Amino acid sequence: MSTEPSIFSRIIAREIPADIVFENDAVIAFRDIAPKAPVHILVVPKTQAFANVSELAAGDPALLATVVATAQAVADEYCDGEFRLVFNTGPSAGQTVFHVHAHVLGGTLSEGSLGQ
Ligand code: AMP
Repeated sequence: MSTEPSIFSRIIAREIPADIVFENDAVIAFRDIAPKAPVHILVVPKTQAFANVSELAAGDPALLATVVATAQAVADEYCDGEFRLVFNTGPSAGQTVFHVHAHVLGGTLSEGSLGQ
C-alpha cells in the first residue's frame, strides 16, 4: 500500500474537487475528468489498500461485489441500467491510478471496442 494518498483518496478527503454522484461508507462514485463515453463514472473503494481488481478480489471479495452493485446502481440512474465495466490492470493495460477503480461506461458505445 502506498503511503502517499492516491488522487482518489484526495477526492474522498475533499482535497480536490470531483463531480460526485454517489458515496457511502465503502465506496465513492464520481464522473471521470476525461470521459471516454457519454456516461463515464468511476467507482472507487474508499480504501486504497488494493492497487487493482485482482488484489481486491483476493483480499476483499465482498468489497468487489459492492463495487459491482454500485456500478449497477449508478448505471440505473444515468444510463438505463446498461453499462460496460472496465478495470484496467497494469500500466501496459492503461492503468494510471493504482488505487483500484471500476470504469462504468454507458450511453451509446461503439460495438467494436472493448477498451474505454
Ligand atoms: P486508469 O487509467 O484505469 O488508472 O483510470 C484512471 C482514470 O482516472 C482516468 O480515466 C482519468 O481520466 C481519471 N482521473 C484522473 N484524475 C481524475 C480526477 N481528478 N477526477 C476525475 N477523474 C480523474
